[in-house]
Amino acid sequence: MLEEFKSKDIPYSRVLSSMCTIPHPIAVKAHVEFINANLGDPAVFRGSAELEKEVVRMIGELLHHPNAKGYIASGGTEANIQAIRAFRNLKRVKKPNVVVPESAHFSFDKAGEILRVEIRKAKLDGEFRVDVGDVERLIDDNTVGIVGIAGTTALGQIDPIEELSELALERDVFLHVDSAFGGFVIPFLDLNVKFDFELEGVSSMTIDPHKMGLATIPAGCILFRDESFLKALAVKTPYLITEKQYSLTGTRPATGVASTYAVMKYLGFEGFRKVVRRCMEVTRYLVERMGELGFEPVIEPIMNIVCFKCEKAFEIRNELYKRGWVVSAIRNPRALRFVVMPHVDFEVIDKFVEEMKNVLRKV
Ligand SMILES: *Cc1c(COP(=O)(O)O)cnc(C)c1O
Repeated sequence: MLEEFKSKDIPYSRVLSSMCTIPHPIAVKAHVEFINANLGDPAVFRGSAELEKEVVRMIGELLHHPNAKGYIASGGTEANIQAIRAFRNLKRVKKPNVVVPESAHFSFDKAGEILRVEIRKAKLDGEFRVDVGDVERLIDDNTVGIVGIAGTTALGQIDPIEELSELALERDVFLHVDSAFGGFVIPFLDLNVKFDFELEGVSSMTIDPHKMGLATIPAGCILFRDESFLKALAVKTPYLITEKQYSLTGTRPATGVASTYAVMKYLGFEGFRKVVRRCMEVTRYLVERMGELGFEPVIEPIMNIVCFKCEKAFEIRNELYKRGWVVSAIRNPRALRFVVMPHVDFEVIDKFVEEMKNVLRKV
């Protein structure tokens, strides 16, 4: 019966817009080994808790701060909520607000609603990066933090984090960098951008192993510059041996901890570099093939995300979906959006382009 349900899921080989992918085989193996652990009770699951500390150190190392403090969360959404929560709790102003780019992920809207923090949205420039001048304009005495995105969900664009870091220091507000997607991509591209803890103004970062980290779902990660942020999140846990808990969820898996550890150890930074390089080759191939059909990218792809200008994006998306293909459509600018994850190879692109030709004849 389960197999029958499962068979209705669209296979990854036809999904060209997911930020998740088929986990690495070593991740699946590690996941199963830790299937019964509960990190909500770290005094019992001591080995799992130790492993989590080690994974946090390894991810911190990737982001220029091996002493960063944090934990493996359920995903980027929880990580973003927790960052805003820590900022709010530390700043203690009456009517807190946070300034995010217009391109920010919708998880910040959830954070704002749950935490009663006003989410102010700053304009983007012509290249879809946040306009730092507009961020500055929106900061006032009640601003507890600002957010920059390193790898926007829609376009894979990177905000000017260096300038945001300067601004955060100057105005004495926290800076959260959401690199849920880009965290496992940017370090492996030969880009000359600073986006992580090496910038003094960066207080916290979101990075999702269950996206380009090839770990199993669920595995997100929130990292803070130091322990004080975790302390601001802690609640007392009277009926456990450990006294305090800073995670948002109570009972929580160690599967993501184990699968992230396994992939990072197995691939190493060099292995990730190869994965990213391959995704970029396929991304460029997609740009070339879509170019043959007359499509132009909104911005030259920086990472393995690419959008093509298209007035009929929604009709085309719907028609493709009817034929069993998944791409996404975005409104502003109107475009077809692709995420070229490791499961999207040259052959998938060729098959897709053939279907695209049929769709274009119809739409
Ligand atoms: C995917 C994504 C998120 C949300 O992560 P989930 O794991 O889906 O909760 C947040 N921010 C950015 C930039 C993302 O791409």
